[in-house]
Amino acid sequence: MSDYTINTKCVQSGYTPGNGDPRQIPIIQSTTFKYATSEDMGKLFDLEAPGYFYSRLQNPTNDYVAAKIADLEGGTAAMLTGSGQAANFFALFNICECGSHIVSSSSIYGGTYNLMSVTMAKMGIQVTFISPDCTEEELNAAFRENTRAVFGETIANPALTVLDIEKFAKAAHAHGVPLIVDNTFPTPVNCRPIQWGTDIVTHSTTKYMDGHGAAVGGAIVDSGKFDWMAHKEKFPGLCTPDESYHGITYAEKFGKEGAFITKCTSQLMRDLGSVQSPQSAFILNLGLESLHVRMARHVENGQAVAEFLQNHPKVSYVNYSGLPGNAYYEIAQKYMPNGGCGVVSFELKGGRQAAEIFMKNLKLAAIETHVADARTCCLNPATSTHRQMNEEQLIAAGVPAGLVRMSCGLEDKKDLIADLTQALEAI
Ligand SMILES: *Cc1c(COP(=O)(O)O)cnc(C)c1O
Repeated sequence: MSDYTINTKCVQSGYTPGNGDPRQIPIIQSTTFKYATSEDMGKLFDLEAPGYFYSRLQNPTNDYVAAKIADLEGGTAAMLTGSGQAANFFALFNICECGSHIVSSSSIYGGTYNLMSVTMAKMGIQVTFISPDCTEEELNAAFRENTRAVFGETIANPALTVLDIEKFAKAAHAHGVPLIVDNTFPTPVNCRPIQWGTDIVTHSTTKYMDGHGAAVGGAIVDSGKFDWMAHKEKFPGLCTPDESYHGITYAEKFGKEGAFITKCTSQLMRDLGSVQSPQSAFILNLGLESLHVRMARHVENGQAVAEFLQNHPKVSYVNYSGLPGNAYYEIAQKYMPNGGCGVVSFELKGGRQAAEIFMKNLKLAAIETHVADARTCCLNPATSTHRQMNEEQLIAAGVPAGLVRMSCGLEDKKDLIADLTQALEAI
């Protein structure tokens, strides 16, 4: 499929039915698979032959959808996970172990921040957080001898900072480690981080990829470009025999193209089991079939709403990288010339009270902690996710009391702006 445009890939990649096969991806709702001889089965366990034996590790429905996502990102292999959290954990833990260190952008999803700073810390994995706006010198200074990965988000949730992917890739490669980028917000329709030097791409498919708020899921894509064997001493899990898999050395047997995902499936999925259900994978694929159509509308609505709010007297500032004058406008133009996503944040002049009245008066935009859905939704962190903080703490956390995050859905922008207009008038 690789020569088609991204639009065609969204519709058709991943699954090619044979003569008389179902046109739509079949949902293989089976935990297990049948074989004629123990020898046939043995070959699968030894990773000598491809095939399925138990859906905790792999399932054909999931693999069709993963193959589509790999093609969309321009990668060589991919896997689905039960959630975006599992995708980021697996991507990191596949190459980190007790004693390893990660360099991560500080501007990332709260769940990923906790994953690294709390849960992975308990496993003896350390992290240094660094501003995505740091200089090359500051970035290089964050590395240690035991650094094994660099992590960032293309467009960060919720801060909406844009990662200078090339700057992060260059530093990662200078230190012999891969760059992992969570590309949830722009999706491959608007940015393909592998083109800019990213080695591993992750997704919370729960967001735009599904796009209908219907199925939680995640994905990991390998670019197939990182040369693990050239940095053998750093990645023993990939470059030395796996005794739990009959002495297979993943980087030798599956090469740069397949080693990362094969190890992640046969070790981490096997042992930790965060598999996506085939039903969810099917729903995810329905979302992917229209991703290219939907992303354009999310961007159109996000841009229109951002421009409207920017000129409104009750709004002190708008944060959207598609607005000229935004701190990330230039780098967003470079990495995402067709726009980033539909998530906009803005501060209301009247603080917490204004936000409360505004939110109460919205009719179309629902109050939700979700983003990246067909239906527009809004969140005021000061009265919800961050309600335990006082005004000073809110400012220090970068979420002043009047801040509203709005995820523009697929409705008509005229109706969205009319809804905002009346809710702003009520303040
Ligand atoms: C939501 C989100 C996650 C976590 O994904 P889940 O599917 O909720 O587990 C990770 N990264 C980003 C950027 C997200 O927006």
